[in-house]
Amino acid sequence: MGELIDRVSLITGGSRGIGRACCFALASDKSNIALNYNKSSGAADKAVAELEGKGVRAKAYQADVSNAEQTKRMMDQILDDFGRVDVIVNNAGITRDRSFMKMTVDQWHQVLLVNLDGPFNVTSGLLPQMVERGWGRIINITSIVAQMGNFGQSNYAVAKGGMIAFTKSLAREVAVKGVTVNAVAPGFIETDMTAAVPEKVLDTVRQMTPMGRLGRPEEVARAVRFLAAPQASFITGQVVNINGGMYM
Ligand code: NAP
Repeated sequence: MGELIDRVSLITGGSRGIGRACCFALASDKSNIALNYNKSSGAADKAVAELEGKGVRAKAYQADVSNAEQTKRMMDQILDDFGRVDVIVNNAGITRDRSFMKMTVDQWHQVLLVNLDGPFNVTSGLLPQMVERGWGRIINITSIVAQMGNFGQSNYAVAKGGMIAFTKSLAREVAVKGVTVNAVAPGFIETDMTAAVPEKVLDTVRQMTPMGRLGRPEEVARAVRFLAAPQASFITGQVVNINGGMYM
């Protein structure tokens, strides 16, 4: 408790699912929360009110992270409001599933723009002030799909695989600056994203998972909280798998 007191965490896509759970996990360590969302303003406002109830400062910021200008505006506003960002959770993500032979160039690009350009836009804007202070935590939410591949998700697998490569390269660049960079790779987690997956496919997923079930957002958020804590000071460039044993 309280390990992130006076720190500020930015969670992209914090309005729903895994991102929302990350906001609460980091707030339970007393981090102040900048919650980014794109479309779900009602859910973002509700989360902010609940976070404030936990005794931390919290504020919601609308921006499409794939849009460099909007993201820059958001980050300027966050730095104005909070003065710093110590922890970035690059969580915002989308899927546009289609078998590769039917995939349009638009579906390919949309997924890369949000899942890969998004983390670039956010991280490049906020990294300098972390390096300047000599402390920072960057946590990228990738996916088991980067490790195993998945039918109909070649665009998503490329984006999430790129995120792992980005994590390792950036980790090497900033290791001596007091900034750690790690990735968390969830398996199949119960959120709106998987609610769109046909039940028959989810049954197969359960059968392929030694634990026989999907994960919960809080189970992913716990790993994010661990990596953000000061005690995780010698962990960088790693991929932490939270998948019920589906990939090992
Ligand atoms: P989700 O329930 O669909 O929520 C997605 C979140 O991302 C929402 O808060 C959404 O905000 C935000 N978002 C989407 N596009 C955005 C954009 N352009 N700019 C800013 N925010 C944007 O998804 P989830 O299941 O929690 O997934 C979160 C992350 O975990 C994603 O990166 C996903 O790829 C990854 N992941 C999920 C699973 C899984 O099984 N669920 C497994 C592995 C990895 P608005 O609603 O405000 O638009």
